[in-house]
Order: sequence, then C-alpha cells, then structure tokens
Amino acid sequence: MHLTFLGTGGGAPSLQRNVTSIAFTRSIRGETWLFDCGEGTQLQFMRTALKPGRLDKIFITHLHGDHIFGLPGLLTSRSMAGLLDPFTVYGPKGIKTFIETALSLSGSFTSYPLDIIEIEAGTVLDDGEFRVTAWPLNHVIECFGYRIEQYDKPGFLDAPRLKAEGVPRGPWYQQLKLGQKVTLEDGRVINGAHYLGPATKGKTLAIFGDTAPTEVALQLAADVDLMVHETTLEAAMIEKANGRGHSTTLQAAQAAKDAGAKRLIATHFSSRYLPQDMARLLAECQTIFPATEIAHDLAVFTF
Ligand SMILES: [Zn+2]
Ligand SMILES: [Zn+2]
Repeated sequence: MHLTFLGTGGGAPSLQRNVTSIAFTRSIRGETWLFDCGEGTQLQFMRTALKPGRLDKIFITHLHGDHIFGLPGLLTSRSMAGLLDPFTVYGPKGIKTFIETALSLSGSFTSYPLDIIEIEAGTVLDDGEFRVTAWPLNHVIECFGYRIEQYDKPGFLDAPRLKAEGVPRGPWYQQLKLGQKVTLEDGRVINGAHYLGPATKGKTLAIFGDTAPTEVALQLAADVDLMVHETTLEAAMIEKANGRGHSTTLQAAQAAKDAGAKRLIATHFSSRYLPQDMARLLAECQTIFPATEIAHDLAVFTF
C-alpha cells in the first residue's frame, strides 16, 4: 500500500508546496482514495502514476479552503473525462451544500452518480476489506481524523496437501478456505483451519486533519503502522499554533509516541518554511519520535 502526498502545505499554496491532499492506494490494482482535496489537487494527481479511473472516494477532514477548494474542479473534470463509475465524497456537515452550490452556480454537473455523505464520529465505511472510522479533533471548526483498518487476510488453503490426502476438489473448498469444517460424501470430516497457512495481519493507518493536541489521538492512532499528522509550526511557535487549532513538531511527535504509532509522517507545513528549514523541523520531531519522516509534494510512502 502507498501514500502519495499531493500537497503538504497548510493555509495557502506556495512554490514549494501545494495545499493538502493525500492519496491512499490500497491495492496492487491501483484502487485509490483521497484524503482532502485542496486547490490544485487534480494537477498534482496528473503528475503521479495514479489513475483517475481507480479513484472512487474522497474523505474530507474539514471545510477549510486549503482542504476542499479543489473538489468542484476534480469532480467536474471527472465528467469531462467520461468516467461513469459512482463516486462518493465523505465529509463534515456542510460539504453537501458546498459541492452542490459550486456545481449549480457554475452550471456544472456530473455524468456519474455522485454520493455526498455528511459524516459524524464513528464508522464511516466498512466494505469487508477496510473499516474507516472518523474521530473528532481539536480545530477551530469541526474537523475529523480518519483511522483506516484493513481486515486480516486469512492464510492460503494448502490445496496440494488436501489432494494428497484424497480430498476431492469441490464447492467445499470455499468453506475450507474460511477455516470451516465440512463433511465429505465418504463421511470424513475435514477441518479447514488445519489446512490454512498463517493469516496476514491487516495494516492500520491514521490520517489526522488539522488539530491542536487532543486526547483523541491516543485512540485514533493507537498502534497504527503509519500515522500522518500535521506539524504546521515549529516548537518555539507553540502559542500561535495551538491558538489557531494547530500542532507543533514536538506535539505531533509526542502524539505519535503516546499512541504507540510505528511511523510518523509530518505534513501540513506553514508556507513560511522553505526547503532549507525542513531538516530542522524533522530534527525537532525526532527528539521525541525518531521514526518520523517529513512529507514533501509528490513523495510516496510504502507501508
Ligand atoms: Zn489546513
Ligand atoms: Zn483547518
């Protein structure tokens, strides 16, 4: 699985960083979800190997412009490209009005079924492969973080061994794959659990929206394989950061440490920071959480 950072800036775009959007590619087939869609997201998307036809959902953390102003353009370009598959946008209350108003006032429409779902805290999506839950953060407007949990994959069925033991192929293989017991025509009872290889543990991912420090982080990012957290400002600017509902480098790193995350990716940097500042911001994070990495535009992280 991969995370591609389409924008890593907070507030306004700069020549170094576009505003926020993260693409989560969840399968080898390239199926992708977006988290936030700041202005310019569709152009950044074109600069990657991601496939527009494989993008079918967007999760919005909150309604600030640096997280949603790319939505109307992306949704209408999808129509112009002739894509017909259904598309879903999840976001806080108001996202439906924002999209519908932007589309109707500009005389735009979508040629595909568009579902806009206004979310509350709790389970947002459960497709049997992934469960996505939304968690309320500590920002100046309603804002959510998303926890994405992949279900464990059962191990492979040892078909050669079944064959060697004289178990004929048949529809019962499906039940055996699920670890269930089946009774064969000759009366033998076969327990599928004894013929399965080790299960693959599902991956977990936490993508925070904008937030000042919050206790919610402990659950949202508990033991995740990868945590994405905003680090809008450096440690010395704590009052300014927290006063505007944002976190510093040290606070993001502390949240990762406290939650037991395995890896932290820092993003959503103020436009005041230039490329030469990034090593210093990274060093601040690593004083508390050594497994920190800094996102830059178009960076891809595999996990
Ligand atoms: Zn922001
Ligand atoms: Zn914000």
